[in-house]
Amino acid sequence: MIIIMEPEATQEQINRVVNKLEENGFRINMNLGDVLTVIAAIGDKRLVQPQSIASLEGVREVKLIQEPFKLASRESKKDDTVIEFSNGVKIGGLNKPVIMAGPCSVEADYNGLLAVAKAVKASGAQILRGGAFKPRTSPYDFQGLEEKGLELLARAKEETGLLIVTEVMDTLDLPLVEEFADIIQIGARNMQNFKLLKAAGKYGKPVMLKRGPAATIREFLLAAEHIMYAGNEQVILCERGVKGIDSTYTRNTLDLAAVPIIHKYSHLPVIVDPSHGTGRRYLIEPMSKAALIAGANGLMIEVHHDPDRASSDGAQSLTIEQFTNMMIDINKIIGRLDWDNKHATIAK
Ligand code: PEP
Ligand code: MN
Repeated sequence: MIIIMEPEATQEQINRVVNKLEENGFRINMNLGDVLTVIAAIGDKRLVQPQSIASLEGVREVKLIQEPFKLASRESKKDDTVIEFSNGVKIGGLNKPVIMAGPCSVEADYNGLLAVAKAVKASGAQILRGGAFKPRTSPYDFQGLEEKGLELLARAKEETGLLIVTEVMDTLDLPLVEEFADIIQIGARNMQNFKLLKAAGKYGKPVMLKRGPAATIREFLLAAEHIMYAGNEQVILCERGVKGIDSTYTRNTLDLAAVPIIHKYSHLPVIVDPSHGTGRRYLIEPMSKAALIAGANGLMIEVHHDPDRASSDGAQSLTIEQFTNMMIDINKIIGRLDWDNKHATIAK
């Protein structure tokens, strides 16, 4: 950290700052200017909280030179994290973006789920999404089939070979969800459920963490840090929109700038979810294309065999036909994507 002292700071006040840092193992580099004294201190911030320095007499300002997230940061790991699955699917780095698709909720109609799973696979998806534990704003809305839903996902996996991503809402359900999921999803509403993050960090399965509706990118990366610090470095980030100033035309504001920003500051893969990000069916295709060009490592898209009768999020779910048509263009873009220093370009 960099500590800027007040111009009138006394030598005693400067010494107090330096001593506190040195006692905790920080290396100090002093810069005695004509007006201001600037102290550069390198060490473990967990041993001395920046706030505890900022509150000392004579200190004007404390600036952090390192990102507050360590394990998730590019400073600590230059190479992209690539998450590999037993069937050869890879998420992250310069690998081809992956497609996760399926219904918002797993519903009792298994044939509907299977029809969606087969269709999305035929169009190029590698991962089937579907919520068995549903975080719903209202307690009167469909809450998910829970274990039964997980069993239906397992059947669809068996029949199609697709990997499964599904949400866990509670630490108590983690052992069960972990048994069925290839990727454990932590939803936007639970992005700062620190107990759940830490618990998911104790399991070996990759975790897809969705950005909270009001979370800054820094808070998002710090949430990922909790999972990593607990022992699980296989974290995938998912941008799914934040609360914006206008919900007239969109459900959330999809922050596509988050994609290159996260690639700059973190080595973790980033998926974009234009379904929750926009809430409108007609916006899924343009936002999916934009996300790929922005450098997303994949997309998560809601698809339903009969959206008008879906138990949740019908308005933002594509029909099988719409998804299939959209994927013609998406596959062309994926096929031509090239990366130049993390920025996607279309190959000539
Ligand atoms: C979901 O993907 O099923 C979901 C509930 O999304 P979010 O957590 O982003 O709202
Ligand atoms: Mn949904």
